[in-house]
Amino acid sequence: MKIPFLDLPALSAEVADEVFSRWKTIVNQADFILGKEVSQFEADFARYCECSHAIGVASGLDALKLILRAMGIGPGDEVITAANSFIATALAISSVGATPVLIDMDERDFLIDVQALESTINPRTKAIIPVHLYGQAADMDPIMELARQHGIKVIEDACQAHGALYKGRKCGSLGDAAAFSFYPGKNLGAFGDGGAATTNDPALAGQIRMLRNYGSPVRYHHDELGENSRLDTIQAAVLSVKLQYLDQGNVLRRQLAARYAAGLEDVKEVRVPVANDYAEHVYHLYVIRTGQRDALMQHLLERDIGCIIHYPIPIHLQKAYASMGWKPGDFPVSEAEAGKILSLPIFPSMTHGQVDGVVAAIREFLRK
Ligand SMILES: *Cc1c(COP(=O)(O)O)cnc(C)c1O
Repeated sequence: MKIPFLDLPALSAEVADEVFSRWKTIVNQADFILGKEVSQFEADFARYCECSHAIGVASGLDALKLILRAMGIGPGDEVITAANSFIATALAISSVGATPVLIDMDERDFLIDVQALESTINPRTKAIIPVHLYGQAADMDPIMELARQHGIKVIEDACQAHGALYKGRKCGSLGDAAAFSFYPGKNLGAFGDGGAATTNDPALAGQIRMLRNYGSPVRYHHDELGENSRLDTIQAAVLSVKLQYLDQGNVLRRQLAARYAAGLEDVKEVRVPVANDYAEHVYHLYVIRTGQRDALMQHLLERDIGCIIHYPIPIHLQKAYASMGWKPGDFPVSEAEAGKILSLPIFPSMTHGQVDGVVAAIREFLRK
């Protein structure tokens, strides 16, 4: 049984007709930059995120970067984030000239270790970027409380958490601002790159809106050294169509996750992901852990079952960050878990039979 890691052609085909009809209107009107589709999607996405503002930008990385710039964070400032995130989280901090300060993950749930956070805050700390990794919200209440005590900002990296809930509230509405990615494989994915920043702060929203469009509040009047980081209009059309199916897709992902958990319940060599009581997990990724990861991965790949490691090298050990002086042993939990994690196939059109096929292949490997 061939099982892809993610069946992107099938997920795209489901919405293709609706997308093509919107694209036809855009082409007929030559409404290619920002325009109606972008403002409509921004309004819809803000409402979906229970936020007053959403600003469409070119990518998730740019959303993080522009939020940091709009908050006035730059050289001399420190921003704390997770060692086990995708590298974009740290790159955004570096790209505005600030210094990324990493903390280790909580061994239980892959999320930011709030205890470690408290001891890392110092007078240079200007912001924290908690990452809602794999589709589960970080424990935001204690993070917000610490941030408020120290007068620092909180930026959610919600790039894997479209529709995820924390104590019944939407990710993207919990911090001072949040960044989303619409990379094709994300729970809400475009047909190319895209991203958005969300916030309830009108001044911050205005600043991000200006920075993404050449620092220009009015055409050919430039108040800031801005950038070209607009959400592509044809991508906004894709996202408006796909937003209608996001909740349904997340429900299906949760059902698939429950089926994996039931199928692997008695397999003590494999640890399945935990969903915290406060969270409604959206399983962007379904990440198991096992001491026999490399051999299991090879076994699955030989059987045409797609699986990937997210992420094999923690940020502090990436070559790109050699100049930071980080070394092995600095974030021991992230390092140890990087050797055990394996992301199994999960996507809305996956069948329960396919989950059973993956489970059977894992059991065959472990002779269970
Ligand atoms: C995907 C992702 C990003 C970056 O998004 P892009 O759209 O690829 O720039 C940032 N952080 C996390 C956690 C992500 O998963």
